[in-house]
Amino acid sequence: MKHKCSKCSRDAVYHARYEGKYYCRKHFNEMVERKVKNHVKKYKLIEKGDRIAVGVSGGKDSVVLLHLLAKLRERFPFELVAVTIDEGIASYRPLSVEIAKRNAKKLGIEHRLYSFKEYIGFTLDETVEIMGSFERGERVGACSYCGVWRRWLLNYAAQDVGADKLAVGHNLDDEVQMFIMNILRGDIARLGRTGPYYEVIHEDLVPRIKPLREVPEKEIVLYAVLNNIEVDFSECPYAVEAFRAEIRDWLNEMEEKHPGTKYQILRSYDKLFPLIAKTYVKHELNRCKICGQPTTGEICKACQFRLQVEKKAKERGLSFRLE
Ligand SMILES: [Zn+2]
Ligand SMILES: [Zn+2]
Repeated sequence: MKHKCSKCSRDAVYHARYEGKYYCRKHFNEMVERKVKNHVKKYKLIEKGDRIAVGVSGGKDSVVLLHLLAKLRERFPFELVAVTIDEGIASYRPLSVEIAKRNAKKLGIEHRLYSFKEYIGFTLDETVEIMGSFERGERVGACSYCGVWRRWLLNYAAQDVGADKLAVGHNLDDEVQMFIMNILRGDIARLGRTGPYYEVIHEDLVPRIKPLREVPEKEIVLYAVLNNIEVDFSECPYAVEAFRAEIRDWLNEMEEKHPGTKYQILRSYDKLFPLIAKTYVKHELNRCKICGQPTTGEICKACQFRLQVEKKAKERGLSFRLE
């Protein structure tokens, strides 16, 4: 038996179990767009005249984010510029970079590409080759290098394009997984860094906003499919986040048994955030002695990693030159 939309007589394409409602295509789109608009408004994530850099990897979340912000921009004026980080992963990146570019072009949004090779000196593939398999006593793997460098380069890119804020594609599932992971690790301080709203903590640290924070991953996938949005569904070949995968499966199981669990966890996080942020966040940041970007120490993590890779490359007699 086909269910009908809870708002009109059309056939439903989606069942939001957490609120017991069915949606047709039109009302589903409206519901997702409203969630983003309300979240942006509630926390004043974007204000009139802002220049927003959107980190677009080509994956579903960031591409859908770009489309939703383009839609939101029809209502009140702000500027958008899409930035893509090319980590230099030969088997994975070229396609997603193209997809990011094509989406920006389709929406009439300026697109800028920043590569690890140009700004760090090594592609991620080269880093993995230089550092070996990351086994023998190396405590951090490819994902650690990539994550730190991507964060650094995104901030650089956002500054470079003159953005007031940097929008990233974190969805409800990402946010809730991150919250639970940090709780299980006892890392409460980390939860004070990024919450529902942003604080300006350093003039050179472009505030990050997460407009998709209230949108479940499922709804992002469906939004992309229903609106014929081209996204890259492939996964990074280096990604081995075993712990996160366990948390994801557990959360999905809880959501299945108790619809609304993910939203309840998000609400708990949002209530705790102001307290955590006040208690733990360090507000004094120095400038990195090498690159000048804000850091808590003397040399930022991105520069520390770059120096490590350079040293190792020298030791092993490997040379990688800029093309
Ligand atoms: Zn409807
Ligand atoms: Zn630095």
